[in-house]
Amino acid sequence: MNYHNITHDDMNNGDGLRVVLWLSGCSHHCYNCQNPQTWNPDSGIPFDKSAKQEIFDKLSKDYISGITFSGGDPLHENNLDEVLSLIKEIRTSFPEKTIWLYTGYKFEELINGIHYPLDSKWEDKAWRQSIVKLCDVLIDGEYIDEQRDITLKWRGSSNQRVIDVKQSLTQNKIVLYCN
Ligand code: SF4
Repeated sequence: MNYHNITHDDMNNGDGLRVVLWLSGCSHHCYNCQNPQTWNPDSGIPFDKSAKQEIFDKLSKDYISGITFSGGDPLHENNLDEVLSLIKEIRTSFPEKTIWLYTGYKFEELINGIHYPLDSKWEDKAWRQSIVKLCDVLIDGEYIDEQRDITLKWRGSSNQRVIDVKQSLTQNKIVLYCN
């Protein structure tokens, strides 16, 4: 798994001050994406022990609300096993911190794991499902330039949703974290 950056004290990608991990790899290729340099899964640098330590050091600070996975798409096939194990470790070490994740996939497709992406291997679908279930908030859907709206909180286009994952799973319907 490769990444481009780890940003600290970030206020633009979720509630509170957050650590943001900007991962490499995205197959969605949305028109006018702000981070096309991240599309290639081999771009950036390998996610190694020191990168992980940097994240854990930051998460140990009281004023940090949690971590946001962005990119690229954290659910790109190259990232799945490492993102899942990283999230599991964060959940164990920092149970009070929140986990947000940005993806070009849609919540329903990820949770149902049967329709999309059509070319995915079954284990990739299972991994994606497991990752989503461990998140607090999922911002889903591709960026659609015609629906760009700079007034929206935490997302670029109006088709994208800020989803409360646990409530959505409990109520078996999409529950938004915010409009
Ligand atoms: S899903 Fe996100 S990173 Fe990927 S192309 Fe679309 S806007 Fe860019």
